[in-house]
Amino acid sequence: MARINPHFTNLHTPYIFPIIEEKLADLQKNHPSATVINLGIGDIALPLVPAVVQAICQATEEMGHSTTRKGYGPSEGYPFLRKAIANHEYAHLDISWEEIFISDGTNTDTVNLPELFAHDSRVAIPNPTYPVYLAANTMAGRASSIIALPCTEETRFVPVPPDQPCDLIFLCSPNNPTGVALNRKELQAWVDYARSSHAIIIYDNAYVSFIRSPDVPLSIYEIEGAKEVAIECRSFSKSAGFTGLRCAYTIVPRSLPDGLHSMWKRRQATKSNGVAYPIQRGAEATFSKEGQFQVKAQVASYLEQATYLFDGLQKLGHLCYGGIDAPYIWWKTPKDLSSWDFFDRLLEQCHLIAVPGQGFGSYGEGYVRLSAFTTPNQAEEALCRIQQL
Ligand code: PLP
Repeated sequence: MARINPHFTNLHTPYIFPIIEEKLADLQKNHPSATVINLGIGDIALPLVPAVVQAICQATEEMGHSTTRKGYGPSEGYPFLRKAIANHEYAHLDISWEEIFISDGTNTDTVNLPELFAHDSRVAIPNPTYPVYLAANTMAGRASSIIALPCTEETRFVPVPPDQPCDLIFLCSPNNPTGVALNRKELQAWVDYARSSHAIIIYDNAYVSFIRSPDVPLSIYEIEGAKEVAIECRSFSKSAGFTGLRCAYTIVPRSLPDGLHSMWKRRQATKSNGVAYPIQRGAEATFSKEGQFQVKAQVASYLEQATYLFDGLQKLGHLCYGGIDAPYIWWKTPKDLSSWDFFDRLLEQCHLIAVPGQGFGSYGEGYVRLSAFTTPNQAEEALCRIQQL
């Protein structure tokens, strides 16, 4: 008889988005005319930029001709894209294009990278953070060796190195859901900790294009010693609207210990057949002159909405964080309401969807996350409704 993976029973935190969907369906049943504003979903609100559309169409056209067709691509990604990333993003940091691996998402990479490490590795994970790190390590049987790194008001919502050793460290900066990014000093402390405890950092930098604070590094490799201890993941999802196309990349430096670079190469060659050629051409187009201009304008507009919501909430006397280096606002619930109670209140009274902070970890209790992936009209309307709360 087939025996199932018993570790799935250790997934205690329910996935919150289906619960939100249910609550929304109830509201729409009871108030069919309600127009709901969804500031919950961390998905893009704007269409693909023209430079990307054009590159994808052209690449698809190429595939329709016998002389230019493409079959399976390299599992690490096409050299044209790896070189474009190396030139545009990492030239000053001396990262070679061969250390860059293309994938279909940072989600995919962050959940697959732990395969390179021993089954009984102690894994440090911020709380709250992007929930898949915890869920994936739990499914892999590491539930009892997770070290939670509280991100609270006292720590400026950044995780600090624990006073116990660990083997693998997840850092998400700028963090989803708090929108707070690690500054140079805080990141240096983590790199120093990883070096002294022989740990490896998986650095989820999916929101790099939103960073505006001058003391926040754009890459962990700006930090001395990071190339010996850190793997960095970035995505085209939020920087260029690729959530529905799927393309990301991960830097696995050759200078990491124990042959991790070769192991990841081997792992990808075995388990991945790469990302579609037209999608990789679309990703390459984001680095062209027009592409850069167009995608940067989109990110800037999301950040404008973040500033608008953040300032508006503050003016109304609410306590909130983030919103500077990320499209997320971390909103402290008024009157010590639980995150679900405040979620319900926002939904019922404002017809507004936020995400209960508790869904990102126990230390998210007492907060909700607002997403700035929306349009200026929706942001304005949301604030008007909140004013009447
Ligand atoms: N990492 C973080 C921190 C995220 O918030 C998200 C999506 O919301 C992802 C990764 C997913 O990225 P991708 O679309 O590249 O899988």
